[in-house]
Amino acid sequence: MPYGPLREMPHDHVPLAQAANGEIGPLCHGCGIRLTFGQSMAIDKHYFCWQCYQQNTGAGPSTSGKETEKRFYR
Ligand SMILES: [Zn+2]
Repeated sequence: MPYGPLREMPHDHVPLAQAANGEIGPLCHGCGIRLTFGQSMAIDKHYFCWQCYQQNTGAGPSTSGKETEKRFYR
């Protein structure tokens, strides 16, 4: 019985996916996009992409402002 690489990885609680380049990584717990372990940020056994990680932690650069949103709403 061949054991797949997914079985042996210690990330059974995380949905894994294989990227186009053959790299296997987790799915973002927030938005569900496919990540590599290099890109993913772990919070509480869950993996998040960088954007969702920022939303969950409130960290990161403050690039979004309400002023810019109003511009497009006009
Ligand atoms: Zn995400």
